[in-house]
Amino acid sequence: MHFERLRLAGFKSFVEACELRIEPGLTGVVGPNGCGKSNLLEAIRWAMGEGSPKSLRGGAMDDVIFAGTAARPSREFAEVTLRLDNSARTAPAGFNDDDQIEVTRRIERGLGSAYRLNGRDCRARDIQMLFADNATGAHSPALVSQGRIGAIVAASPVERRALLEEAAGIAGLHVRRKEAEIRLRAAEANLVRLEDVLAGMT
Ligand code: ATP
Repeated sequence: MHFERLRLAGFKSFVEACELRIEPGLTGVVGPNGCGKSNLLEAIRWAMGEGSPKSLRGGAMDDVIFAGTAARPSREFAEVTLRLDNSARTAPAGFNDDDQIEVTRRIERGLGSAYRLNGRDCRARDIQMLFADNATGAHSPALVSQGRIGAIVAASPVERRALLEEAAGIAGLHVRRKEAEIRLRAAEANLVRLEDVLAGMT
């Protein structure tokens, strides 16, 4: 499963709709300061379900929408689509029926964002799991932004372990474990309640 195309519209400085082909192998983005290199990387991370506005360069979630310039009015929405080649059928179970997978995230000013997977509405969690189970994701070490190399060199052992887990594709297991623990606690609370009710009946 590899990234084939990135489509952006109204995302940060990419006000006009544009589409970029992502060839197999290592991809580098070069250009003068301020031309939008980091914005491209942020668009990919955002489409993969990045939830924290702090980890993107902007502040609030709406900051990813084109804010306007002296010459152009701001936009009311931003949309990013990532197309993945799944012809080798390496996507995780549940996502593996199609040769291509298209993930779209769209945000409307003041209304928050929504996701689509091959045109169908889905949850942020579905998208995050798709990438986590496939050893990539918004925090993947495959996306090397400015300052990242230095951060990895200076990382603590715990932080490095998180990187290795992400690369090994087991990051999604932590999320599932947490969810299972919450369900287990709810079931235990129900059992205690049931025992109380039964005790009251005898
Ligand atoms: P550098 O090499 O200096 O880090 P860069 O090529 O990575 O630069 P980016 O940081 O991707 O550049 O892009 C910065 C540009 O994006 C700035 O001109 C900034 O004004 C513009 N920009 C960021 N967010 C928005 C937004 N919401 N609306 C419009 N323009 C934006």
